Amino acid sequence: MIKKDLCIIGSGPAGLTAAVYGARYKIDQVLIGNLDGGLMTTSHKICNYPGETEISGIDLALKMEQQVKSLEVDKITANVIDIIKSNDNFKVILSNSKEIEAKNIILATGTVHRHLGLENEERFLGKGISYCATCDAMFYRDKIVAVIGGSDSANTAALYLANVAKKVYQIYRKDKLRGETAWIDQIKKNDKIEVIYNAEIKKIEGAEKLESIIINENGVEKNLQIDGMFVEIGSQPDRTLIDKLNLETDSGSYIITKPDQSTSVDSVYAAGDITTNSDSFRQIITACSEGSIAAKSVFEKLQKD
Ligand code: NDP
Repeated sequence: MIKKDLCIIGSGPAGLTAAVYGARYKIDQVLIGNLDGGLMTTSHKICNYPGETEISGIDLALKMEQQVKSLEVDKITANVIDIIKSNDNFKVILSNSKEIEAKNIILATGTVHRHLGLENEERFLGKGISYCATCDAMFYRDKIVAVIGGSDSANTAALYLANVAKKVYQIYRKDKLRGETAWIDQIKKNDKIEVIYNAEIKKIEGAEKLESIIINENGVEKNLQIDGMFVEIGSQPDRTLIDKLNLETDSGSYIITKPDQSTSVDSVYAAGDITTNSDSFRQIITACSEGSIAAKSVFEKLQKD
């Protein structure tokens, strides 16, 4: 059994930043994660992170991971499969069968892609349906694709896909795209992108792979022949560890956190996309901010213990 003062779960920007601050505070900590950078690694272009005019998600993740490494943070690549509260400590059980006994937890596990919940969606995953434009765009060179959604993820996916695909339909349920104005301006100027407003996807069709979708645009049903569909309709927290720790959440399953990133359970802190903090503005910079505050809160608590 590994014993630690702090166990940080999740190695996205929030968890990595918590680890940087934890290391600088010399907290006896361990960082658990299986994908350094988390969802950030699916961003092809990040243009709003201070100090980086333009950088890919993978490169920014690599920089953060290298900083953590340089601070000799104890890091384990694994998933957490269970957390059990025992007396004043938490027993964290990992997918590699290791167990950690920790006095404090920072939960920074982010969110997972939301699905449409339509028939054939799971069946055609990898056969025309994707949740990551950065990962899969290259399969659609000179093909016709659709992007579902009208916020930053969908907007950036449409722009990225337009670099390779012949045609990009962006299907959005309202009449005006939202998110960063800079991306929206680029979409409007891009001849390959056709935004279909006031439209909802009703059916996904195909034999062995995705072949077409039925959309309802302003009450009229239309069939679109497409080769690929990118579902970019946001993300939501995975409840598994939230439920194991019995944390209070809002109606969207986001963990209710106080300004010091503490949660409804003593000695459990949360940071990043998984929380209600930062005015629910889920950005890399806000995840980093919450990670740093969580580490500081643990440091101050340990000093009082
Ligand atoms: P968001 O929650 O911001 O947007 C989800 C989009 O999908 C909305 O347009 C929403 O519609 C639509 N949607 C949700 N559910 C459905 C459904 N069932 N059917 C059809 N459409 C649906 O998620 P994002 O992933 O875009 O962004 C998450 C966070 O990450 C945001 O804070 C965003 O700013 C940030 N981000 C920033 C980037 C940047 O470059 N700055 C890049 C990527 C993400 P509606 O608008 O009607 O709610």
